[in-house]
Amino acid sequence: MAETELPVVGFHPYLWGDPAHHSGLPPAIHAALSGLGVTAPSRPAVPPDAVPLPPVALSEQARAALATEVGAEHVDSGHDARLAHTRGWSTPDLLRLRAGDAADAPDAVVFPGSHDEVVAVLRVCAEHRIAVVPYSGGTSVVGGLAPARAGFAGVVTLDLRRLDALVEVDPVSRTAVLQAGLRGPQAERLLREQGFTLGHFPQSYEGASIGGYAAARSAGQSSAGYGRFDEMVVGLVLATPRGTVELGTAPKSAAGPDLRQLVLGSEGVLGVITSVRVRVRPVPGERVFEGWRFPSFEAGAAALRRLAQDGPLPTVLRLSDELETAVNLADPAAALGSGPGGCLAITGYEGDPAEVAARRAAATEVLLAAGGTPLGAGPGESWRAGRFRAPYLRDPILAAGGLVETLETAAFWSGLHRLRAAVTEALTTELTGRGTPPVVLCHISHVYETGASLYFTVVCAQAADPLAQWAAAKTAANLAIRSCGAAITHHHGVGTDHRAAYAEEIGPLAVEALNAVKQVLDPAGILNPGVLLPPAGG
Ligand SMILES: Cc1cc2nc3c(=O)[nH]c(=O)nc-3n(C[C@H](O)[C@H](O)[C@H](O)COP(=O)(O)OP(=O)(O)OC[C@H]3O[C@@H](n4cnc5c(N)ncnc54)[C@H](O)[C@@H]3O)c2cc1C
Repeated sequence: MAETELPVVGFHPYLWGDPAHHSGLPPAIHAALSGLGVTAPSRPAVPPDAVPLPPVALSEQARAALATEVGAEHVDSGHDARLAHTRGWSTPDLLRLRAGDAADAPDAVVFPGSHDEVVAVLRVCAEHRIAVVPYSGGTSVVGGLAPARAGFAGVVTLDLRRLDALVEVDPVSRTAVLQAGLRGPQAERLLREQGFTLGHFPQSYEGASIGGYAAARSAGQSSAGYGRFDEMVVGLVLATPRGTVELGTAPKSAAGPDLRQLVLGSEGVLGVITSVRVRVRPVPGERVFEGWRFPSFEAGAAALRRLAQDGPLPTVLRLSDELETAVNLADPAAALGSGPGGCLAITGYEGDPAEVAARRAAATEVLLAAGGTPLGAGPGESWRAGRFRAPYLRDPILAAGGLVETLETAAFWSGLHRLRAAVTEALTTELTGRGTPPVVLCHISHVYETGASLYFTVVCAQAADPLAQWAAAKTAANLAIRSCGAAITHHHGVGTDHRAAYAEEIGPLAVEALNAVKQVLDPAGILNPGVLLPPAGG
């Protein structure tokens, strides 16, 4: 299905995406789960309307003040709105909701309709000491939507879905101004009507939004060709409790540090990004996706490195390890060892037809010289068709009694294989020691001249306490990542889950500097307390 045809759907609290795409588990995955010792389904999920919520803590005065700014109909303390905005989409988030735990539910969800309304809401919240969770698509997988409550008179989620306009297109400069609440498919549809594409397709495309892409420095599956989201942003507008910051008036500047980069990745702790000016590209006239087989992960990685360092670079470039190639989550119908073995690489080329033909021919020579075997368009097109489908498998796997979660990191090329081995070993040892031996799948998801990101998928049987089970596995993986000197996250962000590791990665002086900036922009400390940085006094 084309990216623009994906519907924008209201999200169920714990069922991903479009209900029409939920079709249960393919038999091959069932068989694989049995092989991992999954014998009985997990306890049935508590139905959403039966999940108890904590009492609303917001005072009547605060609620009235919020209603004055955005209209009473845009302040919702109802069960459905609060539940749908409880935490994000990590597996622990889903396990808690399935078990009926919504202790982190906000007291109200506020839907501002303009930048000025966002500033006004932040001022009201600062005055009433209410913590604020900026919320774009709500697909955070790192605890970025569950701030600390202690010391606050309530928690309000600021849902930006009403900020959903394509404000402006400059076809000469090839830039567009997009509001923060535009979901991926909405933004892409509006841009294509003007002949442009953003080219940003994370796996969470159906749910994530422009503001979240910027706030959490997202990377899409076509990042080799279109760049990461932080590379696309040329300007942005930030609402803070103290007013507005507007950055980026020219393509490049030598005036002081680039403060756009301070806001990108700030995960809602410095302010609320209400719009961004992004670089856009013409809708590609040609798209070609292909598969390649390499005898080993090392051989495939060497080929990807050649392309990343010496070119030419395809638009999509990724490499699955042996196990992931055999399991093939993008196409479960073909799962489990039915493939030809080795490691599957996907190459995709988008652009002007003549340019695509030349780039593809040159890249093909490099891949052949590096020992790759061309598999033709079949695997490439099947990856493209299935690239947003894997998240739909998570709920049925959890219901069947399995545990599935992902994590990602990045390292320089020279340390990539050591990193893969260390993380795989850490996860395998920890989970096997708990009596639930896992399969650990890995792929190179994004490439750069100097290195690449590794994306791991872990599947095993659920233990009696799956939250403790995953917490231990994740701690072991984080330790392995840190011991290799790799990045604690490549594109999922910090949230609360990676806060301690991030602080170690940048050091105490840098944490203090970030806190000082926060103190200036958000003196009452209401914005996402405990996300990215330790909560005040914590
Ligand atoms: C199934 C699945 C697949 C995923 N695949 C990818 C992938 O391929 N690539 C990738 O990069 N990520 C991926 N993610 C992670 C997630 O989608 C990204 O981090 C995405 O950028 C979040 O966007 P969002 O709009 O949902 O943000 P949200 O979840 O709403 O917010 C993310 C963080 O930013 C803050 N925030 C939100 N909006 C604003 C704003 N306007 N201003 C300031 N702060 C704000 C929030 O408080 C939160 O801390 C995936 C997640 C899931 C569940």
